Amino acid sequence: MAASSISKLVIIGVGLIGGSFAQALRRAGLVKHITGIGRSPENMQCALELGIIDEQTGDFAAALSGADFVLLAVPVKQAARVLQQIAPYLEDCTVISDVGSTKQNVVNAARAYLGKHISRFIPAHPIAGTEFSGAEAAFPDLFQDKPVILTPLQENDQQAIVHVAALWRYCGARVSSMQPERHDQILAAISHLPHMLAFSLMQHIQTQSLTLSEGNPLELLRLAGSSLNGMTRIAASSPEMWRDICLDNRTALLAQIEAYQLELSKLQQILTDHDSDALEKLFSEARIIRRNWSALGNNP
Ligand code: NAP
Repeated sequence: MAASSISKLVIIGVGLIGGSFAQALRRAGLVKHITGIGRSPENMQCALELGIIDEQTGDFAAALSGADFVLLAVPVKQAARVLQQIAPYLEDCTVISDVGSTKQNVVNAARAYLGKHISRFIPAHPIAGTEFSGAEAAFPDLFQDKPVILTPLQENDQQAIVHVAALWRYCGARVSSMQPERHDQILAAISHLPHMLAFSLMQHIQTQSLTLSEGNPLELLRLAGSSLNGMTRIAASSPEMWRDICLDNRTALLAQIEAYQLELSKLQQILTDHDSDALEKLFSEARIIRRNWSALGNNP
């Protein structure tokens, strides 16, 4: 086994992200035993049947005994409670990480509850996912060629940071680091706002259906094509997870909504003015930005 190998991995929240991490490390031959801690018995049974975990338990003391790595993969508003629950049972060698889509609040919670173990709590966020949830949705290639952002803390042990980065690289990810504050601001723009737009666009279609097809949204959607599909795929994502992310990153997200409203107002004004040149210029510039992104080769 490699230097980064794990004898006992504990996954708290065996869903899409936690389950995929477990599968990727198992496939890489890096982990001997995986214990899962979850919420619904149905999901944990599924995780066992799929071989994602070797055992499941609700007993934190037993789960954390001899654990060399603990991954928190629960919705972000649950993270503080889980950190409080695990803190008394952490061993001096256990490295802890998370996968939360927001970072400042989990960092604050870790500082509040982990005591001396904060040196081995390395916050992380894989920029990878699908609109599906639960153990059933997990797959080991999820992180292949995807970015993972670490937001290490000044209290962190360097060895622990290196260990967490190495594990993500074994999962196929490209690892980088930044401050938690900067992470939350950037993610509000590139991920949290797009999800808000997708959810609200589906609501908008529903409202439009009241006037255009006597209240039956499916009448409208029967006619919809790939453009609406591409724009709204992520509106099928977990409401619980996105509720938590949006509330956690509320300030940065509100700033993004305000800025985006200015973009829509600009578009509205151009249309009101019948300004053909301005409309084409705006679309041309947007197309160049989109094509430059494609040229980077990192978009799915
Ligand atoms: P998910 O598929 O819904 O998995 C979360 C799992 O956590 C579920 O199985 C849930 O149980 C379990 N859970 C909830 N509360 C718990 C608790 N208190 N203790 C133990 N288990 C608990 O969601 P996910 O997509 O993997 O997201 C997990 C984390 O990854 C979130 O923090 C999210 O922000 C982050 N993330 C998500 C994505 C994405 O695109 N999906 C990408 C990057 C990061 P049940 O099955 O009973 O509901």
